[in-house]
Amino acid sequence: MENQEITIEDVLKNLKVVKTSHREALIRNAYAMAEEAHRGQTRKSGEAYIQHALHTALNIAKMGMRSKTIAAGLLHDVPEDTAVTLETIEEKFGKEVAFMVDGVTKLGKIRLRGTKEELYLENLRKMFFAMASDIRVVIIKLADRTHNMETLSALPPEKQQRIALETMEVFAPIANRLGIGEIKGHLEDLAFKHLDPQNYILITQLQKEKYEQSKQYLDKAVWDLNQDLLKGGIKVEKIFGRTKHPYRLFQKMKKHDMNIEKIYDLIGIRIIVPNISACYETLGIVHNKYRPLVGRIKDYISLPKPNGYQSIHTTIFGPEGKIIEVQIRTSQMDAEAEFGIAAHWIYSEKRHGSLRNFFFRKKEQAVPEKELAWVKQLREWQNELGKDNSEFMEGLKIEFFKNHIFAFTPMGEVIELPEDATPIDFAYKVHSEIGNRTTGAKADGKMVKLDYKIRNGQVIEILTSRDHKKPSRDWARFVRTSLAKSNIERAYRDENK
Ligand code: MN
Repeated sequence: MENQEITIEDVLKNLKVVKTSHREALIRNAYAMAEEAHRGQTRKSGEAYIQHALHTALNIAKMGMRSKTIAAGLLHDVPEDTAVTLETIEEKFGKEVAFMVDGVTKLGKIRLRGTKEELYLENLRKMFFAMASDIRVVIIKLADRTHNMETLSALPPEKQQRIALETMEVFAPIANRLGIGEIKGHLEDLAFKHLDPQNYILITQLQKEKYEQSKQYLDKAVWDLNQDLLKGGIKVEKIFGRTKHPYRLFQKMKKHDMNIEKIYDLIGIRIIVPNISACYETLGIVHNKYRPLVGRIKDYISLPKPNGYQSIHTTIFGPEGKIIEVQIRTSQMDAEAEFGIAAHWIYSEKRHGSLRNFFFRKKEQAVPEKELAWVKQLREWQNELGKDNSEFMEGLKIEFFKNHIFAFTPMGEVIELPEDATPIDFAYKVHSEIGNRTTGAKADGKMVKLDYKIRNGQVIEILTSRDHKKPSRDWARFVRTSLAKSNIERAYRDENK
């Protein structure tokens, strides 16, 4: 469906929550507004702009999100690219939808100020913190990025490279942090294709050949196992052959001298059963049918991976002695592995590359107690809500780093501040000269007092005057940062000398 034209019916068909008339109306109304607002606009690929909004909404629906998030997904480019304002969206769809649309718009506004790639990624990372006071904003952004990656070929080559790199280094790790394995794998593959086309072609070709070679015995193993499981009284919900994500396979092959014969989970079978005891019964039946490889049985059900992943993995000698990996899990585990929950993402995963310390934390580093409190809270909510992850996701408001806020310069640079920081603190953070010359400030375009308390995500504009070279002594009473304080004190200390 990636590059196909879709309609709002496709989005509604993929709704994972119960389709009430209220939810359907909300989604249809959001579509109507987006369609009218974007009418006549086309993308670089030539397709109607509304297709991008629809695909974004479809991706959101597939992740199990509910109607408000889907509505915000449909409207996510409206304030930025059309004549319809955020106020109109709020009037029609309420504060929550408007807040999400605004968050996505702000995320999209960040611009590279320096030329260094690292500075850019740093900014982007902070940006995510700023906007992630509502996790749904990040989900919408991931859905938006997914469609942009799927249609990346329409853009000029340099732009393709920049966006693909950003996807690999920032967006895929974020999806991984959120436990959204399916989106993470998909984004990595799309980025891989643009960043390293030669190896991408090599890997996908190899995979295709291997799959064709092995299709016959894979089909036979699926058939035979299914028969035995039925005889054993297991209610198999799904059983199917699967291949690895190309980028993941490439990473694994690099570890094994690019020798594909050394990869044992190249092709596999996934078996979905109703509950945990059925998982272990299934493992017994699989091993009774096919001999397992020694040392290749992994029980991630009793010992989940740090990001919460649960499943049983075993590698067997299948038909004709061919090696096949078998994964056994419940449908809930399967849904979690693909579309994840945020509760476990606090723990660092092992990651190679430049952003290993992504989100300020070194790998395997212990989590400070203060932050753990809200993780515990999240887990509690999750337990209360039981199995319904979508319910959990929808109500989830994560406040990353409670004592920090992030504000933006009109150029899109991110300024990190303590809570209750004022425009004076902001000005000194930008530059001491700007601090000294401050005469006034605007927050989100409106004039504010100099002791105004900046809110997370606001754009702050500092008004300065050339004649005004000295800070006011009064400022020391209300500034929050030691940086501002010491600058003010220094100005008067120098004078006293
Ligand atoms: Mn977009």
